[in-house]
Amino acid sequence: MDRIYLDANATTPLDPRVRAAMEPWLDCGNASSPHAEGRAARAAIDRAREQVAALLGAAPREILFTSGATESNALALIGTIRARRCARVLCSAVEHPSVLRTLEALGPDVALALAPVDGFGRVDPETPIAPGTGLVSLMLANNESGAVQPVSRIAERARALGAAVHCDAVQACGKIPVAASGLGVDLLSLSAHKMHGPKGAGALWVRRGSRLAPLFHGGEHERGLRPGTENVAAIAGFGAAAELARAELEARMARWAPLRALFLARLRDGVAGIRVNSPPEGLANTVHLTVDGAEGEAVLLGLDLEGIAVATGSACSSGAAEPSHVLRAMGHSREEAERGIRVSMHAGTTEAEVARCADALARVVAGLRALHV
Ligand code: PMP
Repeated sequence: MDRIYLDANATTPLDPRVRAAMEPWLDCGNASSPHAEGRAARAAIDRAREQVAALLGAAPREILFTSGATESNALALIGTIRARRCARVLCSAVEHPSVLRTLEALGPDVALALAPVDGFGRVDPETPIAPGTGLVSLMLANNESGAVQPVSRIAERARALGAAVHCDAVQACGKIPVAASGLGVDLLSLSAHKMHGPKGAGALWVRRGSRLAPLFHGGEHERGLRPGTENVAAIAGFGAAAELARAELEARMARWAPLRALFLARLRDGVAGIRVNSPPEGLANTVHLTVDGAEGEAVLLGLDLEGIAVATGSACSSGAAEPSHVLRAMGHSREEAERGIRVSMHAGTTEAEVARCADALARVVAGLRALHV
């Protein structure tokens, strides 16, 4: 039987239409060269820039291509801190490690405050912002819980205090509508591989007039803010993926909501002692659960043997000794945090797949519990 992939928040399958859009550019000219080969590559990048901008309702000039959202986040954070000489930064306790670790790595010169979250992983829209805060970084949707954060309200309050605002919108783009300038932020990160595009392609939306220092130096690519010869095929694929995400967003959202309801209903029929940690109004593709009496890692491996891929937390921290910082911030004890399971759907997930996953999960959990009695 075919495998079932329900780990879309880690990465999504490459859409065959995206693959086809990449193919012509795997071997092409350098987009900085003035000859025909170079001009063709440049045209492909220009088109992708328009497609990614359109997904965000933004101007193409505001899009910088990067190697992925880890780099977009680093450029947004370090680039802003350097350009604006920020000494005080606020972010949430549940940010992706590419935000948290990057800020921590700046050392004592940057005072970092962490906004707490509630049991569903949500930041309070009125969370305090200390005077003198120069930068606020808040993700739009959390990769583990699926919680959607009150970014526009916090951005409004931060900007009133003169702070720049960055938003990691990696998990939101392609799953909910994201209007970059409507959010009131200055910088917004996104990643192609979370929306059926290729890995290793990302973008940073930079509001016109934002002060940003580059991390790399050399060429004049990406307005001198991100020099380096462009990965044309990956960028073309990102453009195609963004266009599909925009065209199909409503259909994808409409697909996930009933699948999520079906999954939870079927799971509750099959097994007791399951707690849902994802907020009901969060990302419709994401269900995070705590399972009584069964370790997340054991459930993941049991499902893997049944041909089903899910996650225990974020892929980046899976296998790490420390339990998820997101669950810990949501109030889970270490033991509870080790019993987390995340099921995340992609654009092609079907009812049959979700039903099979719920049944297999109930079976695997029952088997693991039987070992303990
Ligand atoms: N931010 C969030 C919220 C993510 O989920 C991820 C990917 N796990 C990243 C940033 C990093 O993106 P990339 O894999 O493109 O570096």
